[in-house]
Amino acid sequence: MTTRHIELSEKLCDYVLDVSLREPPVLRRLRQQTAHLPMASMQIAPDQGQFMALLARLVGARRCLEIGTFTGYSALMLALALPPDGRIIACDIDPETTAIARRYWQEAGVADKIELRLAPALGTLDALLADGRAETFDFVFIDADKENYDHYYERALRLLRPGGLIVIDNVLWGGWVADLRRKDADTVALRALNAKLHRDERIDLALLPLADGITLARKR
Ligand code: CA
Repeated sequence: MTTRHIELSEKLCDYVLDVSLREPPVLRRLRQQTAHLPMASMQIAPDQGQFMALLARLVGARRCLEIGTFTGYSALMLALALPPDGRIIACDIDPETTAIARRYWQEAGVADKIELRLAPALGTLDALLADGRAETFDFVFIDADKENYDHYYERALRLLRPGGLIVIDNVLWGGWVADLRRKDADTVALRALNAKLHRDERIDLALLPLADGITLARKR
C-alpha cells in the first residue's frame, strides 16, 4: 500500500508544534491544569484549537455554539478569535469542570463573550430553536456524548446559517470506527454518523485525520 499521509513520528509532531503553535500563556496554563484531571484526554489538542480558531475567522464567525465544553479550552480559543461583539453559547452538564472553564475565561478577559448553559445540550438546542434562533449561528463545535452526536448534528444544522460551519470532534474514535468488530454504542454511533454525512446533500464535507479525526460540514 502506498503512503497517502505523511507518517507523523513524535519528532515530526514536535516539529509541527515548534514551527506553528501560537498558544497564548493563559491557554497553556489551562491545558496544563486540565492535564492533571482524570478525564484529561477530553481536552482538545492545542494545534486543533488553533485550527478551529482559524476556521472560525475564515467563516467570519460572530455567533458560535459549543456542545461539550469540559474545562473550556476550545471555547476560550474561539472567544479569543472572535470579534469584540462575537458570542458563544457553551453547553455542558458538569458544574465542576466548567467552574475551571469560567475561571480561565475570566482571567483571559473574554467571560462576557461566553454564555455557559449548564443543562443537557439537546434541551438547550431545542430552546434556541423555539426562541427563533434557527439559521442565526455561524459556527458550531460538537464534542459531547457520542451517542447523541446525530441529534446534535441535526439541531446544529437547523441553527446554522447557510455557509456556516459545523466542526465535529473524535470522528475516528481512536481508529475503532474502521474496526467492524467494535460494536460498542459510541463507536456504532460515530460510524453511522460518518456514513450518513458522506451522502448528506445538505452540506459540503471534509473528514480530516487530525487529532482524533475532525469532520468539517459546511451548510449549503
Ligand atoms: Ca473530543
